Amino acid sequence: MLNKNNTNFNNIDIKEYTKLKLQNEDLKRKNLFLTKEIQEFKGINWILSQVIKTSGTLDSFEKLMKNITDILMGILGVDTCTIWIKEDGEDKYITYSRSIYKGNTYEVKENEDLPDFLLKIKETSYFDTKDKNTEFCKGENVKSILIAPLEDFRSNNRLGIIIAEHRTKDFFTKTTREFFNILAIQISIAAINSKLFEKINEITNKDTLTNCYNRSYFEKLMLNMNTNQKNYSLAVFDLDKFKKVNDMFGHEKGDEILIKISNLAIKLAKKHKGEAIRFGGDEFILILFKPLNETVEILDRFRKNVPKLEAIKKIGIDITVTIGIASYSETVTEMKNIFTAADMALVQGKERGEKNTIHIGYDKT
Ligand code: GH3
Ligand code: MG
Repeated sequence: MLNKNNTNFNNIDIKEYTKLKLQNEDLKRKNLFLTKEIQEFKGINWILSQVIKTSGTLDSFEKLMKNITDILMGILGVDTCTIWIKEDGEDKYITYSRSIYKGNTYEVKENEDLPDFLLKIKETSYFDTKDKNTEFCKGENVKSILIAPLEDFRSNNRLGIIIAEHRTKDFFTKTTREFFNILAIQISIAAINSKLFEKINEITNKDTLTNCYNRSYFEKLMLNMNTNQKNYSLAVFDLDKFKKVNDMFGHEKGDEILIKISNLAIKLAKKHKGEAIRFGGDEFILILFKPLNETVEILDRFRKNVPKLEAIKKIGIDITVTIGIASYSETVTEMKNIFTAADMALVQGKERGEKNTIHIGYDKT
C-alpha cells in the first residue's frame, strides 16, 4: 500500500520514517546555516582583499581612510562607519566617517574627544546601546555597535579605534565580529604605512629650514600642472638687502628672518589653497590658482606686510621683497614659460633698482 508521498508503510517502520524526516530537516537547517556562513566568508575575503589592495597603493592617509570607509559601508552593510585616529602628540582625535544618514558622504572632523571607556577597549567589542552612552556615534537610531582598537604594533601604541553602527539589534554575527578583529589589524598596518609614506614624502618635498616646499617638488608640480586650469598665477619673490642681515647679525639671525618670511608665505598659500616653495637662497615661489589681478592684490598685501614683521623691525634693516608675477594664460600662453617670465621680470626689476615692487612678466615675444 502506498500513501500519497509514495511511501510504503508496509516496509518502513513509521518511527524510523519520522526520525529520518527530522534528521533531514536538521541537515537542511545546517546546510542553510553553512551556506550563509560561506557567503559571509566570501564577502569577508573580498573586503580583506580590497583593504589589502587599498593599503598597497600608498595613497595619502586621508584618501586611504576614504576608501576603507567606503568598502566597509558597502560590504558590511552597516549604517555608519567611523575611524578615529589620534592626532600627532595630542589627546584629540580626527574622525573619518560615512553614514547613510548623511547621504554616505565622507566626512573628516578634527579635534574630537574620545570617551574614556572607548580608549580602554583592548579587543573587538560588541555592545547593545542600552548600557552605554552613545554620544560618540555618528549615525542615528543606533542599536548595535561594533568597536575594534587600531594599534601601532611596533611601538604598542594605540592609533585609534574603528566603529561600525547599525539600527538593528544584534546585527553583527559572531563571524562578523571575528572578522572585524582581523580587519582592524589590517587597517592598522595600512594606516601606519600610509603615515610613514606621508612623512617620507614630506621629508623629500620640503625645505628643512623654512618648511616651504622645495625646488624638486616644484619641478614635479610643473610637470603635472593641469593646463585646463585657466586661472593660474605664479609669483617669484626675492628678499632685498638680505645679505646685510648675515653680515651684520650673523647667519643664525639670517635664518630666523628667512623662517619668519616663509611662515608668512605659507600662511598666505594655505589661505588661498596655493603653494609656497623655496626655490633656493632668499628666492621663493608662490603659486595661486587665481587670475592675475587677484594675485597682484594678494601679493601686494604680502609685500607690505613683510617689513612689518616684528623680527625685521627689531634688526632695523629695511628688508623688503621684490616680486615678479606671470599668469597663465593672461601674460604667458604656455605653462612651461610661466616661471621664467616671472623670474625675468623680478631680475630685471632689481637690475633697474626697482626693489620692493611688483613686476609683471610676459612671454618673450
Ligand atoms: P638683493 O637685494 O639684490 O637681492 O641682494 P641680497 O642682499 O638679498 O643678496 P642676494 O639676493 O644676491 O643673495 C642672497 C643671499 O642670501 C646670499 C646668501 O648669503 C644668503 N643666503 C642664502 N641662503 C641662506 C640661508 O639658508 N641662510 C642664511 N642665513 N642666508 C642665506
Ligand atoms: Mg636677495
